[in-house]
Amino acid sequence: MGETKEIDTYEEELLDYDEEEEKVPDSNGAKATGEVAKKGYVGIHSSGFRDFLLKPELLRAIVDSGFEHPSEVQHECIPQAILGMDVICQAKSGMGKTAVFVLSTLQQIEPVAGQVAALILCHTRELAYQICHEFERFSTYLPDIKVAVFYGGVNIKTHKELLKNECPHVVVGTPGRILALAREKDLALKNVRHFILDECDKMLESLDMRKDVQEIFKMTPHDKQVMMFSATLSKEIRPVCKKFMQDPMEIYVDDEAKLTLHGLVQHYIKLTELEKNRKLNDLLDALDFNQVVIFVKSVSRAAELNKLLVECNFPSICIHSGMSQEERLTRYKGFKEGHKRILVATDLVGRGIDIERVNIVINYDMPDSADTYLHRVGRAGRFGTKGLAITFVSSASDSDVLNQVQERFEVDIKELPEQIDTSTYMPS
Ligand code: ADP
Repeated sequence: MGETKEIDTYEEELLDYDEEEEKVPDSNGAKATGEVAKKGYVGIHSSGFRDFLLKPELLRAIVDSGFEHPSEVQHECIPQAILGMDVICQAKSGMGKTAVFVLSTLQQIEPVAGQVAALILCHTRELAYQICHEFERFSTYLPDIKVAVFYGGVNIKTHKELLKNECPHVVVGTPGRILALAREKDLALKNVRHFILDECDKMLESLDMRKDVQEIFKMTPHDKQVMMFSATLSKEIRPVCKKFMQDPMEIYVDDEAKLTLHGLVQHYIKLTELEKNRKLNDLLDALDFNQVVIFVKSVSRAAELNKLLVECNFPSICIHSGMSQEERLTRYKGFKEGHKRILVATDLVGRGIDIERVNIVINYDMPDSADTYLHRVGRAGRFGTKGLAITFVSSASDSDVLNQVQERFEVDIKELPEQIDTSTYMPS
């Protein structure tokens, strides 16, 4: 009992330390405690917007907006979206989908006078207005990028004048008005590089609107990025959406667990307790990794296993609660900075901390619950990248926990095959 309590205390201390490290300076705006941040996902994905390598002008606007950490959907979509990949994404409202396409579009656009580079279509005027506002907010420090919104109910002459005199680089609008302007050649779509549908199911379910969207789509060049977003995306509408895209990245965010496990290859190995060391040795020799964390169930096992690995010349350290706080922090920091490639740890390191280079987690001892499993393996494959989790199963109770994990997170964890393709778990 005493030990558990001690571990909890230390865990909190480590967490505090880490959060301090990851904080974006000067981002104490009102939104920092907003809906997205409140949901408690930050503990698992504690990377910052800086990790996306966005333009400094965008980062500045993000800080001004009070966004501290990317929401899950941003975490998952932005890295790929800024590379120009097609994306289809479903996530509950309020999860920050708008910022995904606003930021990734602004990141990629190089404004050319008189050319529309991005077109965003949505089904209501209110939404169009709101999206335009988000573009304006995030482009505050990109004064060369011009944004405009077009919807019915406004005198079309005003729109025509605007397009003639001050052609925007980003056009947001409802399909009817956009189509009218495009048909009459006031709006030229031949330079569009980013085509985005928000609430895409609403736009494609209604056949009238779908027809308009299709006609607009055909006026844009073949070679462009297509992104679609919605809070609801039925199985029936997904293939309709995909007809507009080329091999899109599909993100369906239902809950925290599915997101954390997305991109993570998971396997188990059945073996006896006595076979564990040998197997671990073989794995460390055979697998490609940047850094690996090996989880064990007790302090003494952490110390012993680490000693063994060091004796076998593996670049390993361990962190456990038998050490002084200073010692642990030094080691943790050293590992985070990449001085050692293997960390043997207890669940002290499982929750909330964030080490970028870790792409493999090995559960040498089975975690005590599905929750602990999630927190441990969340270390690998973070930030939308790939990773590998291997779990040793050596008893009936280990199998029980593995089954709980599979049920709870709806994943099918298979036995580790003889050969595993490095490209499935190694970030490129
Ligand atoms: P969705 O499009 O998924 O319904 P929105 O893009 O409208 O969600 O975002 C909901 C609210 O959360 C908005 O007020 C937005 O400014 C805010 N928001 C988005 N991302 C973040 C973030 N990373 N941190 C804090 N607030 C955010």
